Amino acid sequence: MTIADNIQRIQEAIEAACARAGRNPAEVTLIAVSKTHPAEVVLEAASFGLQHFGENRVEEAELKIPSVNARSNCPLTWHMVGHIQSRKARDVTSLFQQVHSVDTLKLASKLSGLCMEQGKQLRVLLEMNVSGEEAKYGFQATSWDTNHAVRDHLWREVEQILALPGIEVRGLMTMAPIVEQVEQARPVFTALARLCADLRQSFQIELPDLSMGMTDDYPVAVEEGATLVRIGRAIFGEREHK
Ligand SMILES: *Cc1c(COP(=O)(O)O)cnc(C)c1O
Repeated sequence: MTIADNIQRIQEAIEAACARAGRNPAEVTLIAVSKTHPAEVVLEAASFGLQHFGENRVEEAELKIPSVNARSNCPLTWHMVGHIQSRKARDVTSLFQQVHSVDTLKLASKLSGLCMEQGKQLRVLLEMNVSGEEAKYGFQATSWDTNHAVRDHLWREVEQILALPGIEVRGLMTMAPIVEQVEQARPVFTALARLCADLRQSFQIELPDLSMGMTDDYPVAVEEGATLVRIGRAIFGEREHK
């Protein structure tokens, strides 16, 4: 299978999932997660029409993004999907147009300050831990719908983030747990979509984006409302362990 075949297959699977859910496929953007793959491979994917790419480590992106951008025929949008260490925040605002992994109020404030300093506007998503897995980044959002303390705390943090200049909160992101059956991931996606609807209602804001779904579970994520799917292996093949 070539990269072109893989992209075609994924686009068909997204269309099929949209048809099952009564959604318009134009609402779903495929983000090619190119971590561990060299600039040449990214350029190949871009030559088949992909315009959105995701990276999860600043150190790797620092070398790759300028090299790809310099050689690409059309402008690409770069999405940061991995955890960001505070000392790397400055590099993030200069390399990426969108950040999916804002996981603390502190990081949001830091990015806001940097954007103000650099006179730019950054699109961000708030990463939510809705599955309750401990080893996970993200705002604590497990059982926000039944636990008042969790909800109040989360709502207060979101309120402060929404007030920050320089960053535009576009929606929510989550990582589903690794499961044996893809259906087991569905409740996590449903929960993220419900949480997003609840926040829209409370704060009277749009929050158009839901970033959820990866190689093993994106059709289910699309059925549950994903607007951004982050796909690596299904496009580029298995990654070598680093
Ligand atoms: C690597 C990664 C992906 C893509 O994972 P695949 O299973 O290769 O599709 C998506 N999101 C994040 C945050 C990642 O780190």
